[in-house]
Amino acid sequence: MRLKDWTVLVIPHDEFQAHRFKVSRFIILSLMLLVLGSAAGVSYLVLSSSRKNFDYLRYINLQRENRILTQKLGDVEGKIEKMDSQINGLMEENQQFRSVAGLGLLDEEIREVGVGGTFMGAREELLEINTSLARRLYGQDEQVDVLLRKTALIQQSLEEAISSIESSKEKWSCYPSIMPAKGYISSHFGKRSHPIYHVSQYHNGIDISCAAGEPIIAPADGKVVLVKRQIGYGLTVAVDHGYGLLTRFAHCSKAEVKVGQRVKRGDLIALVGQSGITTGPNLHYEVYLDGQARDPMKFILDNHVP
Ligand SMILES: [Zn+2]
Repeated sequence: MRLKDWTVLVIPHDEFQAHRFKVSRFIILSLMLLVLGSAAGVSYLVLSSSRKNFDYLRYINLQRENRILTQKLGDVEGKIEKMDSQINGLMEENQQFRSVAGLGLLDEEIREVGVGGTFMGAREELLEINTSLARRLYGQDEQVDVLLRKTALIQQSLEEAISSIESSKEKWSCYPSIMPAKGYISSHFGKRSHPIYHVSQYHNGIDISCAAGEPIIAPADGKVVLVKRQIGYGLTVAVDHGYGLLTRFAHCSKAEVKVGQRVKRGDLIALVGQSGITTGPNLHYEVYLDGQARDPMKFILDNHVP
């Protein structure tokens, strides 16, 4: 559309004569440009101001977030320090436990477990922005790695110690350690004069004098390997305890177990009698270790009598 010159009529209310103004095309164009330009300027200012407001709010929120996270890092540092001290205490107790379990102590180098890898890329990035925060953060990260390794080491070491104790417990339950019958020792282990033949002989057990029919009990866990009448020994019972240990009970009146039967320490295995060659009712008790007769008194701990 082609712009033409305009004529503007101004008619005052209290006058009869109108005023006429001629407005050129140039002025109309200028006015239109001025109005459009102002509208664009106002829009720009409004938009830019709201954007600035948005950035400022975001900045404030990020600052708050950062402050809260830094405070939390401080709390976590405190907790990690406490955990470090508790885990070091556990490590010391673990050492004592190993000692009780008959295991060697973990040496310093093993206890100071190696440090794990770090996230170098992220670390470098944060180091550029905030060196001290980066050091704190990654220092704690490394410390947590160390603590994880220490707890894993303690766990492994405890499992080893428990297994060692269980194995000694089993070994201990198979170790002859109590008197197999109530009575008094009428003949000791070693060289002696034979009570019947009166010749010097080696007594490969002890004689426990007691009334016929007194119970004979297993001095440790094991398996019955012999129930038989033997020359001189009379009715004899033998128990294999494993670990090279075997016990034998002679002159019995009655066996209460069968070959192959498993017995526990304290179980009734036979009754005292005077079968075989003997002067009276007594239990002839022998202990063998790796096929060698040993003094049974060494296998009666703390004079334990049932
Ligand atoms: Zn004897």
